[in-house]
Amino acid sequence: MFTPLPDKPDHPALELEILELWEREGTFEELRERNRSGPKWSFVDGPVTANRMSLGVHTAWGRTLKDVFQRYKALRGFDQRYQNGFDCQGLWIEVGVERSLGLNSKREIEEFGLEEFARRCRDVVVQSSEALTRGSKRLGQWMDWGNDYFTFSDTNIEYIWKFLSIVHDRGWLYMGHRSTEWCPRCGTSLSQHELTQGGVYQDRADPSLFVRFPLLDREGESIVIWTTTPWTLPANVAAAVHPDEEYGRRENGEWVAVKLFPDDSFVETLKGSELVGWRYRGPFDDLPPASQVEHRVIPWEDVTMDQGTGIVHIAPGCGGEDFELSRVHDLAVLTPVDESGRFYDDYGWLHGLSTTEAADQIIGRLGETGNLVEAGLYTHAYPHCWRCDTPLIFRLSDDWFISVEEIRATLLEENAKVHWVPEYMGKRMDDWLRNMGDWNISRRRYYGLPLPFYPCACGHLNVISSKAELAERAVEGFEQLQELRRPWIDRVPIRCAECGEPVDRILEVGDVWLDAGIVPFATLGWQNPEWIAEGYATGAAKGLTKADLPDHAYWEEWFPADWVSEMREQIRLWFYSQFFMSVALVGRSPYKRVLAYEKMLDEQGREMHASWGNTIPAEEAFAQMGADVMRWQYCAQPPDRNLLFGFGPAHEIKRRLLTFWHSVKFLVDYGTIEGFAPTWAELEPAGDLRPLDRWLVERTKQLAADAEEAYEATLTVDVIRAFEAFVDDVSNWYIRRSRRRFYSFDEPAFRTLWYALVQSLRVIAPIMPFLADHLWRNLVQDGPASVHLAGWPDAGAPDAAILEEIAEVRRVVELGRQARSASQLKHRQPLRRLVVAGASPVAFPHAGEIAEELRVKEVEFGDVAASELRVKPNLPVLGPKLGAALRDVREQLARGAFEELDGGRFQVDGHVLEPDEVLVERVGLDGWAVASDAGLTVALDTALDDELRLEARLYDRIHEVNVLRRDSGLELTDRIRLWLPDADLIERYGDRIMQETLAVELAEGELRIEKA
Ligand SMILES: [Zn+2]
Ligand SMILES: [Zn+2]
Repeated sequence: MFTPLPDKPDHPALELEILELWEREGTFEELRERNRSGPKWSFVDGPVTANRMSLGVHTAWGRTLKDVFQRYKALRGFDQRYQNGFDCQGLWIEVGVERSLGLNSKREIEEFGLEEFARRCRDVVVQSSEALTRGSKRLGQWMDWGNDYFTFSDTNIEYIWKFLSIVHDRGWLYMGHRSTEWCPRCGTSLSQHELTQGGVYQDRADPSLFVRFPLLDREGESIVIWTTTPWTLPANVAAAVHPDEEYGRRENGEWVAVKLFPDDSFVETLKGSELVGWRYRGPFDDLPPASQVEHRVIPWEDVTMDQGTGIVHIAPGCGGEDFELSRVHDLAVLTPVDESGRFYDDYGWLHGLSTTEAADQIIGRLGETGNLVEAGLYTHAYPHCWRCDTPLIFRLSDDWFISVEEIRATLLEENAKVHWVPEYMGKRMDDWLRNMGDWNISRRRYYGLPLPFYPCACGHLNVISSKAELAERAVEGFEQLQELRRPWIDRVPIRCAECGEPVDRILEVGDVWLDAGIVPFATLGWQNPEWIAEGYATGAAKGLTKADLPDHAYWEEWFPADWVSEMREQIRLWFYSQFFMSVALVGRSPYKRVLAYEKMLDEQGREMHASWGNTIPAEEAFAQMGADVMRWQYCAQPPDRNLLFGFGPAHEIKRRLLTFWHSVKFLVDYGTIEGFAPTWAELEPAGDLRPLDRWLVERTKQLAADAEEAYEATLTVDVIRAFEAFVDDVSNWYIRRSRRRFYSFDEPAFRTLWYALVQSLRVIAPIMPFLADHLWRNLVQDGPASVHLAGWPDAGAPDAAILEEIAEVRRVVELGRQARSASQLKHRQPLRRLVVAGASPVAFPHAGEIAEELRVKEVEFGDVAASELRVKPNLPVLGPKLGAALRDVREQLARGAFEELDGGRFQVDGHVLEPDEVLVERVGLDGWAVASDAGLTVALDTALDDELRLEARLYDRIHEVNVLRRDSGLELTDRIRLWLPDADLIERYGDRIMQETLAVELAEGELRIEKA
C-alpha cells in the first residue's frame, strides 16, 4: 500500500529522514560493495581548503556536480574511488590564524613562536575538516568520509620532494633574482597564477603624477613622465622613449610625445631615438641611493601611446618589465623597501614609511623642488593580495623557480588530448600554457611545504628527495622532527654531498599548488613498493584519517583520472599544477576529461561578499531550500555562464517540482483508493495497453536515453531539461488525457503511470538523491530498498514513430491553445471548428483528442483559408544575400506576389527564400483566431451560437461544483447530493453533471452540495 503524500514536500524534513535511513541501512556501503567487481571509473577530488568553519554554497556547487556524476556512474555499476581531500597549508590557513591571534606581521608570528603557530594552524584544519564533512554529508555527497587525504601529511610532502628532486636533476630548478609582485603584509612574493584568482584585481584610486626630470646637457629643458606609484620615484634610474615615435618640446622646455598632446604646439620635434642617451637629474638625487646613479634616456619598443606622456619612468627594483630592461641596458637596480614594504634607512626622510605613507611626502617634495607638473587621481584595476587584500607592490626578490621552457611543448600536446567541457575551457588552458612564465614555487612563510633545498657555500645545491634521505644525511636534530615542517625541519642541517660540510635548509616554504598538484601521485601510491594500510596518515595527518597508502600497481589501475571537475579559475591553479607535475613526472595528463564551470553570483548578479550581506551560509540554504533544491539549482546551470544563486530561484524550482510531486501524488491517491499493488518483477507494463499507454512507455524510454546522453556528456543542465520535458508530458498529456481511467480501476493506466514515474526517479536520483529516494520507497515496495541501489534504467531505444506522432499532436494542441488565448475567449467556452494546415499525417487519427483538448466540436486537416499570409524580408540576412535585387523582392512580397513552397520556403521574382530569410505572419480573417509556427498553422472558428453558450455555462457550473467539493473537504470518492439553479442545464445535461461531480441526486434550487 502507498503512503499518502501531503500537498507539497517538506524538503528539509524528508532529507533528514533519508540521511538517517542511508546511515541505518548502510546504503552507500552496499552500493560500493555491489560495484566492487565492476569496470573502473576514476575520479580524483580536488582538495577543498580546510580554513572555513562551515560549507559555503560555492563549494556546495562543485561538490554537487562531483556527487551527481559519481552517483550516476555508480548506478551504471562502476567501481569508483570516493576519496575526499583537504588542502591544509599555505596563506589561507596562516592568515586566518594570524587574525585570530591578533598578529600583524611576520615578526609577530616569530615572536609568538613557530611551534605553537604550527599547532594552531593544524587545529584550524582539524576543526574545518570536521565542519566541511558535516556540511557535505548534509548536501548528500557520498564520499569515503574518514579516509580523506590531507595535503599536510608527510607522505604528501615527501612526494613533492621527490618531484622537486627530479625537476632538479633535469636542470629546471633555479633561483631567480627579479622584481616581482609582493604582498607587504604577508611579506612574500606571489606567483603569476596566484594573481589570476578571482578578486585579485580591484578598482582603486591612485595618485596620478606628471613629473619633470631636468635635462643635464640641455639647459632649461626637461622630459616629463607620468606615474601612478609615487613611491617608486626614489628608485628611478632611467626614462624610456619609443625610438620610432615623434617627441616635441613645448615652449617651456618640456619634452613629451607629440601623439599624446595633439593640441599642443611644439618649438622643436625629434624622433625618440634621437633622445636616447640624454642625461637628466633624478627626482630624488638628494637621497644617497639615487645620488650614485647616472640617469639617462633609453629606447623601449613597448612604450605605448595611449596614456601618460610617452616617456616612461623606469625603476628596475619596483617593476617586472623595468627589471628586464635593467638587464638589457645595464641599469642600476635600487630596492627602496624591505619585506614589509617600508623604506630602508638609507632613504633618509622616507625611512620607515610604507609605500602609501610615502606617497604624500613624495608629492610634497616634488612640489617644493618645482618638478611636479600636475597631480590628480587615477582609478584603475590594481592587484591585491588574494588572501589579505593588501595592495601588492613590486619588489626585488630571490625566488625559486621551475623553468617551463623545456616542458612547454609536451604540456600543449597533452592538453590537446584532454576532453574539456565546455570546450573553450581547453582553449583557456592552452592560452595559459603558451604564455605562462616559469613557476615561482617559493614563499617566505611558515605553514607550508618545506622546500628541501640546501644550497652549500661550496656552490653545490643539495635537494633532498625523501624523509629517509634526510635521516641519512642529517647532521643533527632528526630525532626532534615531529613533522616535515617548520620550525622542526629548520633544526636539521644536512651534510653537503659535494664538500661534506653541514648545510642549512633555505627558510622558504612551497607554493600551495604544489600540495594539491601532487595528489594524483601521493594518494594513489605512485612508485610505492608496497601497500601500507592506513599509511597515508603521516606527520600532521596522523590521527585525522585512516586512508591507506596504496602501492604502485594501484596507481597503474586508477591513473589517470577519467574525470575531474572544478570551477574555471582552477585552470591556472589546480588543473594546471597537477597537469604540470604529471607531465613532468610521467609525461602525460593526470585526467582525461574535465568539467569546468563559471562563477557563482547572487541572484541579482553581484559577487557575494560577507560585508555586503548577500552571502548565503549553506546551513541556511539547507534549512530553507533543502539540499535537493540547491542541487537542482546547481545542476540546472549551463557551465558556460555564471550561476545566479539565491532563494528566489530556489522558490521557483520548488514551484516547478510540484508538477512532478503532484503526478506522483495523483498515482498514490488513486492507487490507494483502488488498492493498486504493483510489483517490481513486472516493472514494464504489459497486457491491454491503449495507444496512449504505449506512448508513455516509449516516452519514458526516451527520457532514459536523453538523460544518459546528457550524463555521459557531463552536462547536468541537459538532464534537467530532459526531465522537465518528460514531467510536462506526463502531467499535461498522459494524466490529463487519462484522468477518468483512474477514477475506476483501469489497471493498464495505473501500471503505465507507475512504470513512468519509477523509471524517472531512477533517472533523476543522482541530481535529487533525497526526493527521489523518498518517493521510491513509497512507490516501490518489493524492489530494491533504495533508488540508488536500483541501477540505471537500461530501457533500450524508444519507438521513434510513436513519439513523433504524439509530439506532433501536442504541437497542434499547443498552437490551438495559443490561438484560443489570442481570441480572448475563456478556456471553458466550446467552439465549433479548428482547421489545421501543415501538420504531419501522423496527427490525423488524433482529431478526436485534439478536439477534446481544445473544446472544439470538429477538427479539420486542410488548408487554412481563414488567414492571410504576410511575408516580409528578414533584412539582416537577406540584404547581404540579394544586394541590389532586394528592392524588387521586397516590393513583390509586399504586393503578395509570391508562391509558398514546402518547408516554409517562398519563391519570389525568381529567388527561393529560405525560412530564416523571411518573417512570416498569419493574420486571422474576421471571426477566426490563427496561430502559426514552423510550417504549422491552426485557425479557430470563434463564432458563438446559443448552444455553444449554454455548454460554456455547463462547464462553468461543473467547475464551480468541483471547487465546492474540494473546499468542503470531501474525499475524492465521496458522493454528493447537488442543487443547481439552472433548469435548462439540468434538463439538457443532467446525467453528465451528475457523472462529473459524483452526484447521486440532482435537483433545482440554490447552488449547494451535501455529502450523500
Ligand atoms: Zn597578503
Ligand atoms: Zn658543499
